[in-house]
Amino acid sequence: MSTKHLDKFFAAKSLALIGASNRPSSVGSTIMKNLLDAGFQGKIFPVNPKGELIHGVQSFTSVAALPEAPDLAVLAIPPAAVPSTIEQLGQKGNHAAIVISAGLNAIDANTGINYQQQTLEFAHKYDMRVVGPNCLGLLVPRIGLNASFSACSAINGKVAFISQSGALAVSVLDWAKTNDIGFSHLISIGDACDLRFPDIIEYLADDPETNAIFMYIESIHDREEFMRSALKVSKKKPLFAIKSGRVAEGAAAAASHTGALAGGDDVYDAAFERAGVQRLEDLEDMYAAVQFLAYLQKVGDENLTILTNGGGPGVLAVDALIKSGGHLTKLSDDTKAKLDTVLPATWSHANPVDIIGDAPGDRYAEALKILYKAPEVKDILVMYVPTGITSGLEVAEKILSAEAEEKSNRIFGCWVGGDIVKSGLELWREAKLPCFYSSEKGVQAFMTVVKSQELLRARNTQDVKKPEVLPVKKDEARKIIQNVLNSGRSILTEMEAKEVFSLYNIPVALTKIAKDGDDAKRIASELKAPFVVKIYSKDIVHKSDAGGVVVGVKTPDDVKAVTDEMLTRIGKNFPNAKLDGVVVQEMIVKKNPHEVIVGLTTDPIFGPALMVGTGGTAVEIIKDSQIALPPLNKAQALSALSKTKIYDLLKGYRDRPQAKIDDIVQTIIQVAQLVIDLEEVVELDANPLLVDEHNAIAVDARIVVKTQEQGKQRLAIVNQ
Ligand code: ADP
Ligand code: MG
Repeated sequence: MSTKHLDKFFAAKSLALIGASNRPSSVGSTIMKNLLDAGFQGKIFPVNPKGELIHGVQSFTSVAALPEAPDLAVLAIPPAAVPSTIEQLGQKGNHAAIVISAGLNAIDANTGINYQQQTLEFAHKYDMRVVGPNCLGLLVPRIGLNASFSACSAINGKVAFISQSGALAVSVLDWAKTNDIGFSHLISIGDACDLRFPDIIEYLADDPETNAIFMYIESIHDREEFMRSALKVSKKKPLFAIKSGRVAEGAAAAASHTGALAGGDDVYDAAFERAGVQRLEDLEDMYAAVQFLAYLQKVGDENLTILTNGGGPGVLAVDALIKSGGHLTKLSDDTKAKLDTVLPATWSHANPVDIIGDAPGDRYAEALKILYKAPEVKDILVMYVPTGITSGLEVAEKILSAEAEEKSNRIFGCWVGGDIVKSGLELWREAKLPCFYSSEKGVQAFMTVVKSQELLRARNTQDVKKPEVLPVKKDEARKIIQNVLNSGRSILTEMEAKEVFSLYNIPVALTKIAKDGDDAKRIASELKAPFVVKIYSKDIVHKSDAGGVVVGVKTPDDVKAVTDEMLTRIGKNFPNAKLDGVVVQEMIVKKNPHEVIVGLTTDPIFGPALMVGTGGTAVEIIKDSQIALPPLNKAQALSALSKTKIYDLLKGYRDRPQAKIDDIVQTIIQVAQLVIDLEEVVELDANPLLVDEHNAIAVDARIVVKTQEQGKQRLAIVNQ
């Protein structure tokens, strides 16, 4: 990871377009035209084998023929020609190239290596950085750079957009142009063979012209680098992500509850949250946020005052505000009294300040002036709903001239509707203030900015403590796992898993193995009644599914009877399963137990991920779970737990006391340490943890192991 040579892209002073062309509709011609139209301030060297004039600019026949090494080279040539061109550029002294060309994953028949690999090898050899291949290109409006084949250009703005999809980048550009919104940078990274999100966001984090960074992410290439960079950058600027593919990946074939429950998308959520990246639901949300941030970079807090001429849209705005965690500012009596002096008696006397459908611009402006001065009022949403009586344009004029005097930078507008309100809305944009057609969108955008400020603050004030881990016996646990792997198994028995839990200081119910009914009776007589009898077989993973769990067994004689019956029945129903007997357990009797699951899964992108939620045998149906990436300290583990539904129950309700939440948190921390220490552990369930006001005890344990490649970095977060 490095930002070396990125200036050559983003502050290029000269550039060469390799594959420049006059042929209409070709990529080489479109880029050339875009370069010229955008008014690039540096030198442009078209390279074309014929050496003709390209769009009126003298071209050069080859890279070697260029008079100097250009800061930036843009390649729009067939894939087979890319590696040798990169080599020539390297020899010339160039350090930055954008490879627009697609198809570099084809194998070169001469070398047997694909073109992308060859390109990278030359790039490394000559210390070059590469954007692409298979990308739309790069726009930096501030320096008049449009090195892309986009159908439209961009104006200069204060937010950067990095897109893994070129097609999406063009749509965003088109939207931005239509709405007069600018970007500081628009970068299409395509297949991202070299330059990826981490390098780029670290560069942009230090760019004074960029106030916020938006990413469209299809997948993360390197979890560790992504997390490290995002953790760093989110302390400096708001980072937003739209991540496509919300459908869970890889969850189908899991042996544990956690594996089945924790899909890829939830892990992305957890990773983004941990790194301080705000996830946006869709493109619409991004547009709204970009639009807001294009004009207003700062807001007060989540308290909003709404000034409106009434109607349903006002209520919708309030709904949207509350739903996204905001609040209506409570107006003081003093403010209300002042508003009384300028408003008709029928005004709402509360926030939203509804100044009635016939409100002309002057009434808005009078009310606004009072709200500006009210100490409790921070940001103000001014809404106009079209009526036949007043004009949206006139209202906008009055509002905006009041704002021009006050220069509060605390107002944004929603001119609700379409054609009728258009001229008013455009006036807001001319005044460089956000205005939306929909009150929900406007309020959502406001709340997105509020949250981004909160995140930024949190990232800078969080004191990230080391995990408060209780002592563990790593080597002994490792031995158990090695034995399992050596015997060709991947799933530990309940007994083995419980031993590992105990070695990791996770409390478990006392459990003993019995080979038959008599044995079980003998064991039970040494334990405390009542008992639980469970089938013991390496071939039966989910015991209750097979009718292999009987709880509440009262006496050792009953234990014998239950065991005999269970072994006979399951032997008949599962003739292929090898039954090793049963386990006899002391039953954990709690008056009002909560069943909680603490688990672990291995995500293909982010590696080991912890899960906590509602446990028991119906976990997959209830689906109440939250993910957190290791390492985890108390605050982080509690933060995950507190987002589950069961947390509200654990806090106590009606006559039920608060459960021992600390013990659950400690279990999460211990499991996180377990997976940090024991790389072979790929899935794990402590399900259920029986929890009440006194303690949390794991009555069932499941661990799935897999031999790991040596030296592979498994964790997404190495330093936080
Ligand atoms: P499996 O998950 O393989 O079906 P469990 O061991 O989790 O089997 O048992 C199923 C259910 O039985 C648990 O969710 C819990 O409600 C109950 N149970 C199991 N062991 C005990 C125990 N020792 N004390 C109290 N309840 C238990
Ligand atoms: Mg279980």
